Amino acid sequence: LPEQEAFDIEYWLLEEAKLQRMPKPKSLAGRIALVTGGAGGIGQAVARQLLQEGACVMLTDIDGGALEEAEQALLKVAGRDSIATVRANITAEHEVEAILNAAALRFGGVDLLVSNAGIASSAPVEDTTLAMWERNQSILVTGYFLVSRAAFRIMKQQQLGGSMVYVASKNGLVASGGASAYCTAKAAEIHLARCLALEGAPHGIRVNVVNPDAVIRGSRIWDGKWKEERAASNKIDSDDIEEFYRQRSMLKRSVLPEDIAEAVYFLSSEKAAKSTGNIINVDAGNAAAFTR
Ligand code: NAD
Repeated sequence: LPEQEAFDIEYWLLEEAKLQRMPKPKSLAGRIALVTGGAGGIGQAVARQLLQEGACVMLTDIDGGALEEAEQALLKVAGRDSIATVRANITAEHEVEAILNAAALRFGGVDLLVSNAGIASSAPVEDTTLAMWERNQSILVTGYFLVSRAAFRIMKQQQLGGSMVYVASKNGLVASGGASAYCTAKAAEIHLARCLALEGAPHGIRVNVVNPDAVIRGSRIWDGKWKEERAASNKIDSDDIEEFYRQRSMLKRSVLPEDIAEAVYFLSSEKAAKSTGNIINVDAGNAAAFTR
């Protein structure tokens, strides 16, 4: 090569190498996220990922003590200017309004909603009381509706589009023995997401669903009765529950809170700008085929 040309190429390669080493702009910088159930295992993992991608996060949960602990843990990832918390019950209309007002006051609005707060309860249908049935519908359907409605109003007013991601469940697609109240509520959540996707599209508001299968590590749901009930329903020892789900899956892998967070992040980001009304199952293959 002529000397000047060789010099130009070397110079260009050096500039390229410098660019590669420069910190990339964060993909959610300037975005404001609201995460419900933020004190729980999946909620915290989602909040951590959104913070790492540069979003400001308003975390909400009914459990004030656990919410404080979650905030302390997340302050290791991002500063006080990016994290705020508000204790609220998503089934109470006025408390939901207070969550959205708090987000507006603290950060100026809401662009990304992650509707994730939840419970799990299980009983054979003949033992399912009306109270158990109504608790599932109230938190998993009415609660999701109330938070979505409030966020929808703000997003529409902002005229900046937005994203909602529902953390539903594989059990909203596939029935699970002795858990009709939970499975029915999760199915309704998924359909609510599709309805809101249709209404949101003209305003640039996308609504998608992430369906976890059993996420045992980190989840507070699995600390309680649910573990014993699921173990009994599958006729196994409760200590073997994680291994049971791992072995049952197509990929023979356990699903972790961080796996759910990755899918939520993808759907919340511009990478999914053309996805709405969709579902990502993060279930190691469990919704596609039963392998035991
Ligand atoms: P988790 O119990 O660790 O977190 C759920 C959080 O929701 C808790 O902190 C709880 O206090 C909060 N919450 C419950 N009721 C509320 C209310 N009325 N108002 C406000 N907050 C409320 O459980 P997780 O595993 O992190 O579950 C998160 C979501 O994922 C839930 O919707 C759950 O149904 C779904 N999911 C979980 C699994 C799993 O195996 N862990 C599987 C499928 C779906």
